[in-house]
Amino acid sequence: LALIGFQNVRKSFRTSEGGQFTALNNVSLSVNANEFFTLLGPSGCGKTTLLRLLAGFETPDAGSVTLDGKDITGDPANRRPVNTVFQSYALFPHMTIAQNIGFGLRMLGTPRDTIERVTKEMLDLVKLSTMSSRKPAQLSGGQQQRVALARALAPSPRVLLLDEPLSALDLKLRKEMQIEMKRIQRDSHTTFLFVTHDQEEALTMSDRIAVMDQGRVQQVGSPTEIYENPANAFVAAFIGDMNFVSVNQVVGREGDLVVADTPIGRLHARQSGCRASADTSSVATFAIRPERCRLKLAGKEAGNGVRAKITNVVFTGPFASVIVRPENSGEELRVRVAADNPDYGRFEVDADAVLELPSDKL
Ligand code: ADP
Ligand code: MG
Repeated sequence: LALIGFQNVRKSFRTSEGGQFTALNNVSLSVNANEFFTLLGPSGCGKTTLLRLLAGFETPDAGSVTLDGKDITGDPANRRPVNTVFQSYALFPHMTIAQNIGFGLRMLGTPRDTIERVTKEMLDLVKLSTMSSRKPAQLSGGQQQRVALARALAPSPRVLLLDEPLSALDLKLRKEMQIEMKRIQRDSHTTFLFVTHDQEEALTMSDRIAVMDQGRVQQVGSPTEIYENPANAFVAAFIGDMNFVSVNQVVGREGDLVVADTPIGRLHARQSGCRASADTSSVATFAIRPERCRLKLAGKEAGNGVRAKITNVVFTGPFASVIVRPENSGEELRVRVAADNPDYGRFEVDADAVLELPSDKL
């Protein structure tokens, strides 16, 4: 069931040079109730602008915003059932944790016993019940972040907007909070619209992701859909690690395989995996993830196999990152070799190897 809808939304800003900058270019999206939905894209792609349109801090130049199917495009911000958590969570330093959490409800004139009950529920939700009478300064960064979440959730917003809330935390704490925030979203039965430029964070937390670039939505899908079937070259390059091999010429078809000549040789790819690419610099581009490539030190090159030289090896324990250069080519590909590879531990710089690019993974 769609809770939030953006229909053909456009938003431009005047630049300091007097021109126009298109921050959102015909964005259409829908977010379901109780979803953890993430807007993912590089800095400047329009994520915050889209959140501000939903919160009512900006109005679109064209298009509409709906909530529960009702047009809210012109509604004032304070009448919208949404709440926002920012990166700087700005707790009130002189208030206790409980008072911070109850603040929004007090502003709404909520009866005292309701405030007490909801505050207790929220403290349980974020697992800070034992700290209710402390002041924010007596809490760690991660705990403060959870108070900010509880405070924003206390008035029961239909949607919680989170604009890069974890980016100020150090890596270890950020990883913990990613898991914790996902649990809080599930337990609170609230729709989260989350913004990040960190693809790993988006993959970890989200039910669905909208990948954005230059004011446009490039792809919407579950983390697996986006990782396994990127819609275009931008998404393929932005999410995870990817090798690209340009196609010089498509030479034909064999069954459901496309056959093409590339700088590393003739390759076959499953036709159903082929799609339009945003990259127009060549006829087409093949893409394959490092963990989908196969590498062995000896043997015949079968299928999409090419002879290659190893140019670099980095062991990281559970896997090794091996860089290989296919024979007679200037191209380099990254291969992620798992510890169960029979040759694991024996890959060395300058060694000859056979690289295989499985046609169903290309
Ligand atoms: P993101 O959150 O993805 O980093 P934003 O939505 O903040 O991107 O901004 C998108 C683009 O719109 C940026 O180039 C930004 O400079 C521009 N922009 C955003 N808000 C304004 C504004 N109020 N005035 C002028 N330009 C703006
Ligand atoms: Mg932003």
